[in-house]
Amino acid sequence: MEIDEKPERFIVDGLRLDGRKKDEIRPIKMEAGVMNRADGSCYIEWGNNKIIAAVYGPREVHPRHLQETYRAILRYRYNMASFAVDERRRPGPDRRSIEISKVSREAIEPVLMLEQYPRSSIDVFVEVLQADAGTRAAGITAASVALADAGIPMRNLVSAISVGKVDGEVVLDLNKIEDNFGDADMPVAMIVESGEVTLLQMDGIFTKNEFIEAMELAKRGCSQIYDIQRDCLISKYKKLDSD
Ligand code: UDP
Repeated sequence: MEIDEKPERFIVDGLRLDGRKKDEIRPIKMEAGVMNRADGSCYIEWGNNKIIAAVYGPREVHPRHLQETYRAILRYRYNMASFAVDERRRPGPDRRSIEISKVSREAIEPVLMLEQYPRSSIDVFVEVLQADAGTRAAGITAASVALADAGIPMRNLVSAISVGKVDGEVVLDLNKIEDNFGDADMPVAMIVESGEVTLLQMDGIFTKNEFIEAMELAKRGCSQIYDIQRDCLISKYKKLDSD
């Protein structure tokens, strides 16, 4: 379904245009350990998003002047392929991908025990092959699994999802039409166990009550994402066991 103008209504008889309820997430498939040359990796299909996260490291830092004496540095590159969207994107970094790389790195960093690898770097590459809104959240979710798959010591996983507002109603996990033409979009990343929020951005306006409702929904969403991340890692190790 390709819509390139604002639909008259986003919610009809309680259901969104793709048939979901307001608090329903899109179907998600995740697989860890999909790349031979990476130390850890994860492929995620989240609705119509298709994204690969690959982790390299801990490894030597190049250029060396970036090296830190008492901890590893974390580098995170979010990139969207030129063919990932309807209108061909110019390849290479742009303002959007530089911003997403920065906030995603900051979303993940709090769970990593970087102090265990002085003078090294841990490099995360997130490649968006097909985009349909929520790619930064899906990227963070996959990167977190890829880091665990690489055996990087972590205090916990980070889970992410976006919440927003369409037709004046707060909805979970926006698709592209809702993201592009809705009233608000708020990606959230958190450590589900502690409730610690590591990323919170907002495009549009929520009232105070809507914001509270949106955070509540995001929390419930992240908790579902966390279960999928955990199952994905467990099934990878079960598979290794049986090989
Ligand atoms: N998008 C696009 N062209 C671009 C950037 C984004 O078509 O150059 C689409 C893409 O589907 C993306 C969505 O718009 O997922 C929403 O983008 P946003 O910047 O809100 O980031 P996201 O929701 O993917 O984290």
